[in-house]
Amino acid sequence: MTTFESMGLSPAILKALQSMGFEEPSPIQKRTIPLILEGRDLIGQAQTGTGKTAAFGVPIVERLDHRSRRVQALVLAPTRELAIQVSEEITKIGKFAGVKVVPIYGGQSYDRQIRALEHGAQVVIGTPGRVMDHIRRGTLKLDHVKMMVLDEADEMLDMGFIEDVEFILQNVPEERQTMLFSATVPDPIAKLSRRYLTDPIHVNISPERLTVPLIDQVYYEVREYEKLDALTRILDMEGADRTIIFCRTKKRVDELTEGLQARGYTAEAIHGDLNQVQRNRVMKRFKDGGSEILVATDVAARGLDIEHVSHVINYDLPQDTESYVHRIGRTGRAGRTGTAISLIHPKEFRQLRQMERVLHTRLQRRPLPTMADVAE
Ligand code: ADP
Ligand code: MG
Repeated sequence: MTTFESMGLSPAILKALQSMGFEEPSPIQKRTIPLILEGRDLIGQAQTGTGKTAAFGVPIVERLDHRSRRVQALVLAPTRELAIQVSEEITKIGKFAGVKVVPIYGGQSYDRQIRALEHGAQVVIGTPGRVMDHIRRGTLKLDHVKMMVLDEADEMLDMGFIEDVEFILQNVPEERQTMLFSATVPDPIAKLSRRYLTDPIHVNISPERLTVPLIDQVYYEVREYEKLDALTRILDMEGADRTIIFCRTKKRVDELTEGLQARGYTAEAIHGDLNQVQRNRVMKRFKDGGSEILVATDVAARGLDIEHVSHVINYDLPQDTESYVHRIGRTGRAGRTGTAISLIHPKEFRQLRQMERVLHTRLQRRPLPTMADVAE
């Protein structure tokens, strides 16, 4: 059994991990920490939420020369939020070792960042654009960098940062250890790793399947103003008979229920403002087939066990992938095929791609049915 103790980590780090509540290493951490401690280059592939930050954060803190105040490790992250998160986690890991961690990202004053860097930074976490600016201005000295991490590499690719990342890789010493972490490894990332990593080991933690393959997952691109219209056309075309539709808020649930009723659908709302008796009535009518559509919030639908639902529709996308999986799990139960439909605004495409990555599934895009399609 691999434990943090058996990895030979120093007492200051073990104490920090304990104070963070990390009792044992996650699967990706078990595999990558020992390799990084040995100095290997590697690609660490595991889905979101599997502990990739500590997978490189722990060995980085362990391998730092704690007497030197120079930048020895550089981590690139796709967004400012992630840069801050990573920086906070490494700060915690290095708390008892007195490690200096500085995040640098766009939107914050250069002066502040330059002062923080001058104050002594051993680990710098930055977004590619801002790191590049600092390199150009000569305010970030990277000639003592011996460890380099590309975190969430697939996201950096999606956001168009690959050229910036390459520029930065060309500006750190060649004699270094390079680690790339990503949920997926699409071609351009594989290519990048062949160019800039030396003999890397590819550690791939295969994901637990989150989705039930019997569910057809599709989406329609829809603007807010045309949502209700699009929904009714989809309902008509699909011949959806037992359908649960999810909205983000109670207000949206009520509005949509009204809108559907006004168009002749037997739809009923279920959300937290109903008392138990009302809820039971609504549920009974839906189960008996008295109403064909149930419009719900996530909270109201939690724990509902309804059989033979033909369609689950995300009128609004859920906040996170886990809720998505919960929602669509209402259809396609017990070996039956079900359809999960999401109405997606172009602004939500990024979230969609992120969900697809976690699910290791592509949602099929469908064109909106026209009036003619429905009339048939
Ligand atoms: P990823 O980068 O793979 O998406 P993170 O590194 O952000 O995942 O980790 C997800 C969450 O799990 C964080 O809150 C982190 O603090 C926590 N975590 C990571 N490793 C462990 C561990 N070994 N034990 C307990 N919690 C952990
Ligand atoms: Mg991460």
